[in-house]
Amino acid sequence: MVPPMSMLYRRLGSSGLKISALSFGAWVTFGKQIKDTVATKLMHTAYDAGVNFFDNAETYADGAAERVMGAILKKSRWPRDTFLVSSKVFFGAEREGPNQTGLSRKHVLEACDAALLRLKVDYLDLYYCHRPDPDTPIEETARAMHDLITQGKVLYWGTSEWSAAEITTAFDVCTRLNLHRPVVEQPQYNLFHRTRVEKEYAPFYRSPGLGTTVWSPLASGLLTGKYLGGVPTGSRLDTPSMAWLRDRLTSDASYPAKMLAVQKLAPIAVELDTSLPCLALAWCLKNPHVSSVILGASHPEQLRENFGALAVLDRLTPSLMSRIDAISRPLAE
Ligand code: NDP
Repeated sequence: MVPPMSMLYRRLGSSGLKISALSFGAWVTFGKQIKDTVATKLMHTAYDAGVNFFDNAETYADGAAERVMGAILKKSRWPRDTFLVSSKVFFGAEREGPNQTGLSRKHVLEACDAALLRLKVDYLDLYYCHRPDPDTPIEETARAMHDLITQGKVLYWGTSEWSAAEITTAFDVCTRLNLHRPVVEQPQYNLFHRTRVEKEYAPFYRSPGLGTTVWSPLASGLLTGKYLGGVPTGSRLDTPSMAWLRDRLTSDASYPAKMLAVQKLAPIAVELDTSLPCLALAWCLKNPHVSSVILGASHPEQLRENFGALAVLDRLTPSLMSRIDAISRPLAE
């Protein structure tokens, strides 16, 4: 196995912010699937490898994921200018009353204050609208984000899984009203989920410049090959609270074809002298419009293995990329 290379840093879209090409997120794991001691090891493993972005959201483990991350950040005493931390607003945290979810001015402002308290930081580097809110005018949300930036509570704002039309509206509103505009989108992107990043958002990359921090790069683990022989004990799809995801993924008509595709990718990983997870992650990183690939992990060994993706980048030649494309494109959403 080739040893991992040092971390790469990319500009977040047209902003001046430098983000590590591999970052680390707390969904499912922090405050839920893993013990806090493991979360601590994961954060330190990531930081020591040069990860500078830690992703979170008000809804992860109903706020507990941010509390766990906040305690680790506080104890670590890492200089504040060496890391970026995010939160996302929309789904709510502990409570889901009419004004405790969504993207109204009230919830966006109150959720930010609550996230700052849980994460034990004075400001969020990135604050995302976790989903579009059909009940709130985009102008209201954009102005709330602008005000948070003006107050110094947020440095940059972005969206997650917004359509191109919704992002266009946000850009237009911000230009018209001279508000800080969104600089980043957080979409799903992996070998089985490509269209939004590759086609739908294509008009935004050059102008006005949109960064992407992409999620589920291993399709929740499917692309690691660990599910080829069934659902292993202790894996994400074996976790009782994730039964909805297991049912959604494994009962999908495309699931057998996806497993076959993973089998076909395995010899390419061998040719590259790497593992399937590193192949799948390096494939995401090859896309220059991806600012950062957000890793998830339940064990520090997984993270250490996954950083090996950086060493594979130069060896993913156009001909290997075409072979991978031929396997993945017919199945990709
Ligand atoms: P992945 O698709 O990469 O899945 C990560 C999971 O795969 C791990 O928790 C682990 O699960 C398994 N895994 C990872 N590496 C290995 C390995 N080397 N060998 C075997 N198994 C491995 O990413 P996530 O779905 O976790 O998403 C990453 C982050 O993206 C989240 O933490 C969150 O911050 C963000 N996100 C954002 C969303 C949004 O709507 N904006 C939605 C979802 C995620 P296990 O060991 O339990 O099987």
